[in-house]
Amino acid sequence: AHANDAQSRRMQALGQLAGGIALDFNNVLQAVEGATTLIDRQPANEASVRRLATLANDAAKRGAAITNRLLALGQRSDLRAERLDVTTMLGEVRETLTHSLGSGITVRIEVRPDLPPLLADREQLETALINLATNARDAMPKGGSLTLAAETEMVSMEGAGNRPAGMRPGRYLRLAVTDTGTGMDAATLARAGEPFFTTKPLGIGTGLGLPMARGFAEQSGGALQIDTKPGEGTTVTLWLPVAEAGAMPRPEATMPAPGKAR
Ligand code: ADP
Repeated sequence: AHANDAQSRRMQALGQLAGGIALDFNNVLQAVEGATTLIDRQPANEASVRRLATLANDAAKRGAAITNRLLALGQRSDLRAERLDVTTMLGEVRETLTHSLGSGITVRIEVRPDLPPLLADREQLETALINLATNARDAMPKGGSLTLAAETEMVSMEGAGNRPAGMRPGRYLRLAVTDTGTGMDAATLARAGEPFFTTKPLGIGTGLGLPMARGFAEQSGGALQIDTKPGEGTTVTLWLPVAEAGAMPRPEATMPAPGKAR
């Protein structure tokens, strides 16, 4: 039932995605068609032809941006699970972040000392964390603090506690990215995670960070959770199952892909 829930959510997301792309593309085509029709009517009016050509050109560029987003989404690879030391991995992520976050943002790492090793796809996990941290940065234009926290939690009963629905009982590693930024209002929260939903300016937002992080978490057998309060900040948590001894997939084992952000 769980797999089917995740599957039907993915199918729904895919449907929304296809619908959104069709709409965006239709707008592009209409702009090109409109501009070229007008050029055809008044080919002698040079100023007008220039203006319309610029319009058509801009539209074509938007079209190219749409297909680029699609290509990025299509670059899905299978998950390559490897044994990770979470503390080391977070240290590496922090290293990457110091180069990309502004100076007004303090990065803290809070890791429980007794964390078990994690079996996960390193590249996809790091990409997800960096995307979440980038969102955190974008939510703190005046600076603030960004915390990467890791701890384990036993999920014993479905539907209990503050966690995503439909998680299987078992032991999970919670990787939480917390910011002291703008938070999300109800309307944004409702749509956050929808492919291509973004509140950021064109060229900056892709609307793919959260859906890809969620795809990765679900593909890994876990889930993604968003807790947010307008004016106070946001925590996005990746729940990743901790493989119990004896039930561990071999390190070279691969699973079908959720997607990746490059
Ligand atoms: P993008 O960052 O390209 O917009 P995402 O899927 O990562 O795409 O995020 C979608 C939207 O969710 C963002 O545009 C923003 O409105 C909201 N969001 C995501 N993370 C945060 C955060 N940490 N704080 C506030 N809003 C956020």
